Amino acid sequence: MSHDRQPEWLRHLYAARTVREFEQDLQFLLKNYQPISAADLVEGRIPTGKPAFHLSFDDGLLSAYELAVPLLEQYGVPATFFLNSAFFNNRDLMYRYKVSLIISRTLFEPKVKTLLRNTFQSANFIPKLLALTSNDEALINRLIGLTGENIQDYLSRERPYMGDEEVRALIQRGFTIGGHGHNHHDFRLLSEDARIEQVSRSLHLVERYQPNGPRLFAFPFTDDRMSSSFLRRMHEDVGLHASFGTAGWKLDPQPNHFQRLSLETPRRTAASMIRREYWYRWLGQPLGLHRYKRKAA
Ligand SMILES: [Zn+2]
Repeated sequence: MSHDRQPEWLRHLYAARTVREFEQDLQFLLKNYQPISAADLVEGRIPTGKPAFHLSFDDGLLSAYELAVPLLEQYGVPATFFLNSAFFNNRDLMYRYKVSLIISRTLFEPKVKTLLRNTFQSANFIPKLLALTSNDEALINRLIGLTGENIQDYLSRERPYMGDEEVRALIQRGFTIGGHGHNHHDFRLLSEDARIEQVSRSLHLVERYQPNGPRLFAFPFTDDRMSSSFLRRMHEDVGLHASFGTAGWKLDPQPNHFQRLSLETPRRTAASMIRREYWYRWLGQPLGLHRYKRKAA
């Protein structure tokens, strides 16, 4: 979610939801579904009546705290916030946000544009920047250097992320937190050991603030290509109560692993996205497409 003007670190990636759009989504959800807490979800306490939903926010952004939390409290909707341990307290910035910041600077500073053109040996370097992956972090940090911006100074000025104060307040107000990996690395690009390390580091952060709460983890980007045997190992090694993907409205065969429907698509309301999911489900069910297909190993 965002205020009217999108910050440089987000502007070139996607259009975040406005407060007004988010409030309309909440009203739609509450008219048709009933909200449940993470604890209810994990313990399988699903109330009778309207179908239940649990709302979650990824990436630990301060805007979610400042803009969404007041509305969630007003409407009495519990939610989970999934945090990256590397960015907590504004210690670093996710690589995609760094890319957006670099693009912003090339648009306003001709010198930076020339440096970038030379680095990529192409005038058309913006698609190349957007195609960088979490394995290109060293290059991205060098490019930030070329813009003349010091990322630490930038982070203390802009404060994109929540920190100690906000997370304490969230817990006190009855919200839950979960892990979202250490630095939002794409898990498809990592070995199994490196993935486990990412999950554990983010869960260490969660444990500090929520020592008795549920141990939850949401995959950064996607859980695509995560095998059943890896999910089993992850749950065992890290001691998770539940994990989450973002494959849409699908039944996942993996115990305690849930698929989520992303409601962040720009210029579409929650109502239209959920309606579309109903159609997919209705059309796909006879073919078994509503079940998530996962490789065993
Ligand atoms: Zn994320």
